[in-house]
Formats: sequence, C-alpha cells, structure tokens
Amino acid sequence: MGRLICLSNRIPTGANPSGGLVVALGDVLEETGGLWIGTSGETTDLPDATLREIEGGPFKRLCFDLTEEEQENYYAGYSNSVLWPLFHGRTDLMEIHQEYLNTYKRVNRRLAKMLAPIIQPDDRIWVHDFHFLPLAYELRVLGVQSPIGFFLHTPFPGPISMQALPNGREICQWLSNFDLIGLQAERDVRACLASMVEIGGGSDLGGNFMHLSPRQCRIEAFPISIDAGEFKELAERQIEELPDGIVKPNRSLMIGVDRLDYSKGVPQRFRAFGEFLARHEDWHRHVSLIQISPPTREGVQAYDDIREETEYLSGQINGTFADIQWAPIRFINRSVPREVLAGLYRASQVALVTPLMDGMNLVAKEYIAAQNPDDPGVLILSQFAGAAEQMGQALIVNPHDTEQMATTMLTALLMSRQERRERYHALMDGLTTQDVHWWSKSFLAMLG
Ligand code: UDP
Repeated sequence: MGRLICLSNRIPTGANPSGGLVVALGDVLEETGGLWIGTSGETTDLPDATLREIEGGPFKRLCFDLTEEEQENYYAGYSNSVLWPLFHGRTDLMEIHQEYLNTYKRVNRRLAKMLAPIIQPDDRIWVHDFHFLPLAYELRVLGVQSPIGFFLHTPFPGPISMQALPNGREICQWLSNFDLIGLQAERDVRACLASMVEIGGGSDLGGNFMHLSPRQCRIEAFPISIDAGEFKELAERQIEELPDGIVKPNRSLMIGVDRLDYSKGVPQRFRAFGEFLARHEDWHRHVSLIQISPPTREGVQAYDDIREETEYLSGQINGTFADIQWAPIRFINRSVPREVLAGLYRASQVALVTPLMDGMNLVAKEYIAAQNPDDPGVLILSQFAGAAEQMGQALIVNPHDTEQMATTMLTALLMSRQERRERYHALMDGLTTQDVHWWSKSFLAMLG
C-alpha cells in the first residue's frame, strides 16, 4: 500500500500530537510511512519555498509558515470571513475582497508547488477542509495523477447560497479535480450535487458521480465521529474527579459546549432557557445551565458581536431570575480541558446542542458516549446539526423556535428513566458502530 499524505490547515503539534483527526489517521499514517502537512501556526517575513520537518512524533510531519499578509487574507480573510459564513448559511456576513481571494489562491498554489515534488506515484492524498479547496486543481496543473480525496468538516452550501459568492463557479470547478469529495451528511451531498450542476455547470452522472473538469468526481457522505469507547472510559474516570459544588442535591444540570461562534445558536438557546424559567417557577433553584464557550477568531467583527450578545443575555436572565442561592446560567468564556468536559457531561441531566448550522457537532456524540448507561441524560439536538441525521433518538428541535425549545427542556427534565435508557442505547449503538475509525476506513476504502 502506498503512503497516505494528509493535509490540514493547522498541523497537529507537540511530541505527542492529539485531536480527533490524529486518532482517526495516526495508525494509517504510521502503517504506510505517511506524512501530515499543514501550516506551523507561526508567521514569517518571506514565504517558504520548501516544507520543513517537525521533529519527533509517531509519524512524519512537514509544515510551512504563513506571512502576516497570508495570515490576514488567506486565513482570517477568505477562509474565515468568506467561506466559513457562506458554508454556514450566513451569506450576509461574508466580506468579499479581491485580495482575500488572490492570497487564498496564492497560498494553495505555493503549497501545491512544495508538495508535488515529494508525491510518489502510489501515494494517496487526503485534503481536509475549506482552507484548501483549490489544492487538487493546482496539483493536477503540476501533473499529479494520484488519487486525491477531500473532506469538508463544515456543511456544504446549496445553489442559492453559492450564487452569493462571486467565484462560486470557480469553487465548483476546483472541487471537481478531487476524485472523492467527502461531506458530513446526506443533506450536504444533495446541496453539493445541486451547486456543482447549477453554479458549476457540471453534469450529474447519477450514483453521486459528477463530471465537470476533464475528470469525474464522486460525492459521498462520511459522518465524522469520535472514539466512543475511549470517551466512555474517560467519562467514567473523570466523574470521580469533578470539583465539589458542581453537582447539588435537588438541582438538575443542563450543559452546552460550543466555541463562541455565530453558527452555534447560543443566544437562541439562552432565550429558550429564559422562556422555560418564565413558564416554570417550580423549576427555579432546581435547574442550572452551564454554558462553556471558549472565544474563537477574536478581532473579527461578527465574533465580537456574538460575544456581546451572549454576555448581555446571560446577564439579563441571571438578573431576572437569580436569588442568593442560585444563578440559572453559568457562562464560562474560556476553554475547558476535554477530560473535565467528559466528567461534566456525565454529571449533566440534559445537553443542549442547538446550532443554527453545523457540519457534524462532536459535542452531541461526546455527551452520549459519556453517559451512565443505567441513568443516562437526555440530548436535545438541533435539526441543523449534521449529527441529527444519525442521532434521531435525541430530542430534535428547531433552534429558531424558542417556545418549542422551552417545551423540550421540560420534556427532557421529566423524561422517565426507562425512556432515557432506550434512547441512550439506540444512540450509543450507532456511535459504537460508526465511530471515528469506521469514518477514516470507509473514506480511504472508497478513495482506493
Ligand atoms: N472542546 C474542548 N474544550 C472546550 C470546548 C470544546 O475540548 O472548552 C472540544 C469538544 O470536546 C469537541 C470540540 O472541542 O471535541 C468541538 O467540536 P464540535 O464538532 O462540537 O465543534 P467545532 O468547534 O469543531 O465547530
């Protein structure tokens, strides 16, 4: 078997690189003598012309630096202020600037030039996420014929959204140079096929095959996941380590864990919780919401706005309902380590995973994996999370519908143990069968 060459914007760093993708791909990289390539996270004055190796680690890693200008235009600009909002249904937040696009293309062309000379004929290449949409196109221009796969970790926009992007057609053409396009959910496959035809001008060949460039590409859903068994064991250990004062007698815990991103629906969730408290005085002092929201992409206006809105709403709800013994919302605006989260999930009776749009949402999967099978909690899940296609036994909600969410909170808090167990077992069976190892194996098997 040839080597696997994996690319992602940020390379996993440290002597023992970690994270979901490392868990999924580390074994194949080690077995095939493969490589992981990505940006270093550091900036430089002059653009690198070659990749440099990161010492140590279980598999070979090569990285390159960005210049300040590339960081600004390729990363914060085109990737995070054009593609991210477009791919999350927020075309109104796109900031269209020609220099963003120019730099984005230049970084991808530069990467392709550094990469092409080290590719061997039997290598397989797996490109991750929206930072590298043109990479297969650039590699084909340089004569690379190896199989190139792409996995998009976000949703894919349909033709109506794609029309709002001045170079929407070009994006479809770039993508058609991949042999396999992996998406999170069937809804994304439908949106991608439609955009490739309507915006890109491609021909739908049936069976999820598309003809657009001289090549033919295949578009399929591969819902990403976690190592459910590993996370279950982590939660079992970590529940013992929870600090005092988190679990209180006669008080249920609800938990939300989301980067502070406008796609995550935190303000809508707070409003629904406020509505629940307004309706149910008997639940005052008997339920609290812990919302963990590490800041992300600070300095981008849309992110500053969402922070202000969530701080205002949590303050307002606490101001309205809190008393000397109880504050309904604990809003934590910093990152919490994964192992602490595992214990918190297990201690929480309800998880609120209610994004307005999300590729998958791994918090939903982690919450279920962390539960005590004997007395599990309830997952409230947005219909707009990719995870909803696999996790139909959660309580599915529309995050825009405040009243429905408030009603569902009560349903979750009152749900019988028998029903909680039935839902948990069905969800956990799905997570165990289609875990992160299944995800990477099925993608690579189809890539060939
Ligand atoms: N996470 C964490 N600490 C935090 C918040 C989140 O470790 O304070 C982790 C969380 O456990 C999950 C990931 O970050 O594994 C978030 O993944 P998800 O798919 O839910 O959302 P994304 O941030 O990728 O959009």
